Amino acid sequence: MRILVSNDDGYRAEGLHRLADALRPLAEVTVVAPELNRSGASNSLTLDVPVRVFPFGERMYYVNGTPTDCVHLAISGLFDFEHDMVVSGINDGANLGDDVLYSGTVAAAVEGRFLGLPTMAVSLVSRGGRHFATAARVASELVMRLVRSPLHSSMILNVNVPDVPYEHLRGHRVTRLGHRHKSEPVVRTTDPRGRPVYWVGPAGEGADAGEGTDFAAVAAGCVSVTPLQVDLTRHAALAEVDEWLRGRAP
Ligand code: MN
Repeated sequence: MRILVSNDDGYRAEGLHRLADALRPLAEVTVVAPELNRSGASNSLTLDVPVRVFPFGERMYYVNGTPTDCVHLAISGLFDFEHDMVVSGINDGANLGDDVLYSGTVAAAVEGRFLGLPTMAVSLVSRGGRHFATAARVASELVMRLVRSPLHSSMILNVNVPDVPYEHLRGHRVTRLGHRHKSEPVVRTTDPRGRPVYWVGPAGEGADAGEGTDFAAVAAGCVSVTPLQVDLTRHAALAEVDEWLRGRAP
């Protein structure tokens, strides 16, 4: 088995190395990760400048691009072999609810959806404890489970692991994405020449953090596993919009 490991925190990030180390006993691991921290890069591709690939270890490479660039290159021409799955992470911070729209960690997993096995994004819901070892062990156990009993190959699993010692985890829960409140306002400040500059504010707190959500699972000390799909079609609205287009009241 060949596993491609990527992330969005950049190739120096602790979580990336913890994840690769945890998966090496299970598979031949290739690491292709961004040169810089590209958290929030979502599913962006670099199309305006060429991207370059630099080796930094055995079967380890960094790319001056986004997480999606990394996985796209790795599965479409960079290597003369194919990978079976992508595991992305371990992100330094949660990817819950609306976060998945912005997350480069999730994007890297999504980009691997055409491979033979489901892909997985792993995030540590960090509050300063930084138990990357817990998330690494959870990731390797889930990969072993996938190999023993495969899920549908286009499945994308978004995994959030509470930042506690492994023994303190309260089990696993399958979850749906919750929703966050609107994010905090942008922070306006000035540069040394007096010109305004802005910082994007932090994400809002969980708004729909109720039963069954990823927010509720991690709050209860459980590993949250959310199956994702790429199809953003609002299937339930097809009939309503059809009526609307025909000029009839829905
Ligand atoms: Mn990140």
